[in-house]
Amino acid sequence: MAAAEFDFETRQIHAGATLDADHGARLTPLYQTAGFVFDSFDDGQGRFNGTIPEPAYSRTDNPTNAAVARRLADLEGGVGGLLTASGTAAIALTLNALAASGDHVLATDSLYEGSRTLFARSFGRQGVEIELIPADAPDEVWAAAIRPNTKALFTETIPNPKNDVVDLERLAGIAHRGGFPLVVDNTVATPFLNRPIEHGADIVIHSTSKWLSGHGAVIGGVVIDSGTFDWAGNADRFPEIALPSRTGVASFVERFGRLAFLTYLRSVTALDYGPTLPPTSAFLLLQGIETLSLRMERHVSNSLEIAQWLEHQDEVANVDYPGLVSNPYYARAQKYLPQGAGAVVTFDLAGGVEAARVFIDSLQLISKMTHLGDVRTLAIHTGSTIHGHLTEDERLARGIRPGTVRLSIGLESVRDLRHDLERALDAVAAAAPVAAAPVAAAAV
Ligand SMILES: *Cc1c(COP(=O)(O)O)cnc(C)c1O
Repeated sequence: MAAAEFDFETRQIHAGATLDADHGARLTPLYQTAGFVFDSFDDGQGRFNGTIPEPAYSRTDNPTNAAVARRLADLEGGVGGLLTASGTAAIALTLNALAASGDHVLATDSLYEGSRTLFARSFGRQGVEIELIPADAPDEVWAAAIRPNTKALFTETIPNPKNDVVDLERLAGIAHRGGFPLVVDNTVATPFLNRPIEHGADIVIHSTSKWLSGHGAVIGGVVIDSGTFDWAGNADRFPEIALPSRTGVASFVERFGRLAFLTYLRSVTALDYGPTLPPTSAFLLLQGIETLSLRMERHVSNSLEIAQWLEHQDEVANVDYPGLVSNPYYARAQKYLPQGAGAVVTFDLAGGVEAARVFIDSLQLISKMTHLGDVRTLAIHTGSTIHGHLTEDERLARGIRPGTVRLSIGLESVRDLRHDLERALDAVAAAAPVAAAPVAAAAV
């Protein structure tokens, strides 16, 4: 089911599906099994060496997972995908496939905090240096950062939580001139709002735990390969993918063509590390994907309305939502996100941490929790939770102020959401005269 033939709304329901040959089940069947029986000695050998395209073992081969990966690859415009146990696993696996000890990776500096931690801590321990650069740094800064051992440029379409939309086409140019792929975490945009491959990305990653599932029932991730990066032309950087093995086996590029990276990721990195998505989670993810466009339309209309309303509240010092005309990323969002600027609305309470405490504790309808993309609206004070391990200066450098609150806007009636927010802001206003100076100065 090619992109040219059918619209997004149709493909989110049909792409990649295989009909159940045994009984004609309409839904993609849930193959809840660890392994698959071989018909014979030869069948077992063929399933292992790839000459028989049937699964052997669910660590990398489950048919339910494969169907869901095909659908996501179709929606993103890629040649194939691999589901992983979480979004974090998708990022870790991808960068593990691209970079080894002694290598260097570039990333934009406004990122999901879990990615920053993964880069600094675990990749640092492995000897992979991941250097963060402001996305809009001048060309000279980017050019000077590129080294012979630079293996990837990593970014997020709509960085979580600051919504400082990146210029994907410029970043793709920087990566390709350097000779390495652009890897984009497209979690917050979803393929309904932005398809990074259309703007030059080579590999797209999602936390499928968020909007792609939508129901908040499962954790998961996916890696999607555009199939367009020139591995052979950069064989010195990527010998594992572009050169024959030590024992003379032809390269992944020679054997798998446009599927070279994905096949390496699946048959080497994922096989070795084993971060498998349970098939039940893939099945539940698929039920979410089939309504993605409808949900995203409502997510973004609710978000814009809430952001516009928040902007005019006395207790609110600043709203980071690129759908607002007043936002510095508005023009870029018009280009990259014409159907809406996502559903994360981050704002700063003027009263700092004490105002945030009163605000969070006054919410009744909105859930106080960390997560994104649920049908339910969620709120979190990031400075005391997600960014709680940082110093005040480190938080400020990331744009996280004492009163910063992140909302993941859900699908409830926008009037009911506004009432809940209004009640919480009224409580902040009522508490302000008492709470003001001394407590606000305390560390978060
Ligand atoms: C949540 C999130 C992740 C991590 O995904 P998990 O499924 O929680 O592991 C990665 N990137 C972004 C932008 C996220 O919001």
